Amino acid sequence: MADLETQEALETLTQVVGILSELIDRSSRWGGALELTESLFTSGVAHMDGRIEITRAVWRQPQYRWRTVIHEALHLYSPPYTSHEYAAAHGWEEGVVEQMQRLLRQDVLREIGVTMAEDAFAERDAAHEYNHYIRALESLRQPLKMSSLDFFGRLLATPLPNRLITVRDAGDLLPEQEERAAFRRLLLLARGKLGRPN
Ligand SMILES: [Zn+2]
Repeated sequence: MADLETQEALETLTQVVGILSELIDRSSRWGGALELTESLFTSGVAHMDGRIEITRAVWRQPQYRWRTVIHEALHLYSPPYTSHEYAAAHGWEEGVVEQMQRLLRQDVLREIGVTMAEDAFAERDAAHEYNHYIRALESLRQPLKMSSLDFFGRLLATPLPNRLITVRDAGDLLPEQEERAAFRRLLLLARGKLGRPN
């Protein structure tokens, strides 16, 4: 039988997934299992078979707990991908998931009844190892004039190997030839940072 802390974490994750499914309007691939681990190397892992692991030390610190639980839960709204696809397109998954975490966390916390101002997240946000992915994705979102939730939410729903093509196709719909050419150049730059899914 799981320890009390794991039970508490499991109940929290269940709540978070329920809220995310409403916000995203899709169901999660989470299989209902959560393990608190002693890992020193990651804050959490979402396995493609639907299991989630959260590092116990991260769970114990509220300013890390929420962002990690929401981030790992969001991976399981991506269509399933292989480890090879993940490695080839790391930024297309981690940048999308981390930005969605930032966009949705206050809505999730409000629903759960937890008050945590954005100030509490700011320091970790500023030093986050996926910020260069988020910047690269933002460089593509802005010329497309899509809202953040629309852009990142659509990418999260798109199979990982197709995310680059989806963005390229959106750029090809820009009205002016010059805009389309500029977008292709931005996409080349971003691809160098985000990975080449195919
Ligand atoms: Zn991740």
